[in-house]
Amino acid sequence: MIFNRIPTDRVNWVTSSFLIGTFVLALTAVPAYIWAFGINWFQVILFVVMFYATGMSITLGYHRLFSHMTFKAKWPVKLFTLLFGAAAFENSVLMWASEHRAHHKHVDHEDDPYAISKGFFFAHIGWLLFKLDSDEGYEGVADLQKDKLVVWQDRYVQWIAVAVGFVFPALLGYAYRHDWVGALGGFLFGGVARVVAVQHCTFFINSACHTFGNQPYSERCSARDSFFMALFTFGEGYHNYHHEFQHDYRNGVKPWQWDPTKWAIWGMQKVGLTGGLRRVPTEKIILAQIAQAQRQLELKLASSQVTLSESTRTLLQASQDYLTELNNRWAAKRREYVKSTEEALENSREAMGELREELKMALAHLKFVKTIEAVL
Ligand SMILES: [Zn+2]
Ligand SMILES: [Zn+2]
Repeated sequence: MIFNRIPTDRVNWVTSSFLIGTFVLALTAVPAYIWAFGINWFQVILFVVMFYATGMSITLGYHRLFSHMTFKAKWPVKLFTLLFGAAAFENSVLMWASEHRAHHKHVDHEDDPYAISKGFFFAHIGWLLFKLDSDEGYEGVADLQKDKLVVWQDRYVQWIAVAVGFVFPALLGYAYRHDWVGALGGFLFGGVARVVAVQHCTFFINSACHTFGNQPYSERCSARDSFFMALFTFGEGYHNYHHEFQHDYRNGVKPWQWDPTKWAIWGMQKVGLTGGLRRVPTEKIILAQIAQAQRQLELKLASSQVTLSESTRTLLQASQDYLTELNNRWAAKRREYVKSTEEALENSREAMGELREELKMALAHLKFVKTIEAVL
């Protein structure tokens, strides 16, 4: 039962009223408005623009910039994500980052604020409904507390949230139609319906992204990769990668993976608004994939009833030997690289061509191992 681990004696009435109230309004007042006054393109566009502005302020600003420092940003980017991030009604960036850093540090354990081990409902929204104000504190964000804009946002976050999240879309609605019906439409579509949509998309990262999908990089924690979830989470659905390499500005690390947040960060770099984008080296990512693929295959082989033919087994053994050998060699290279960065930089140019060939070979072998795994 999903409700059995919920401490019902500690309900946060303010948060609960807001979360449940907006949800109920989105399901009642929004359809009632459409029934009474209809819906026009302006309202649809307002919803979509506000959805992306506030949702990506959370993923790009709150998450990848402030919580993980995966890149640097000029003040206009900071200010925009602080204003529109507040309008997502997910508290101040100080509070959000403090909780999120605790999530990474204690993932799946008692001190993880939204631990999936306490159930899907708890990780999704329960942790907010039952988080008393007295529980609030700012641990692990001393670096952010030096940022004047961040501290300013923390002080006025509820005011900013109401102004940017509700009053702003209502004013736009009024400007479009010059009457109260227009203002109400702006408030309902750009404010209420949008805030409910953005919040549940964010909540899915803590619930669904720790439940559904695969684990191509590590089984160290419950985080999973899912293209489907990435569609609803501005690219944060590649959560297994993110938990393994949290300092990479990309969550969907492969070029084809759906990650609008990474494209926005990269695009803004081109016009000088962001910089210092942090990337995990490709060979390190492939090493993690190789180790994980081998672990998963061993598990499957151990539990499978299927017996492989002699030739397949020989091929598989050769592939695994090659990947293990490559794994060891790359790990040694990495240690060397750390020891003498300058020297390695000199050698790295010629080593790059060689490495590229090895990467290609490794991927071919990895594909073979995965194919065998799939038929088991
Ligand atoms: Zn997570
Ligand atoms: Zn994170």
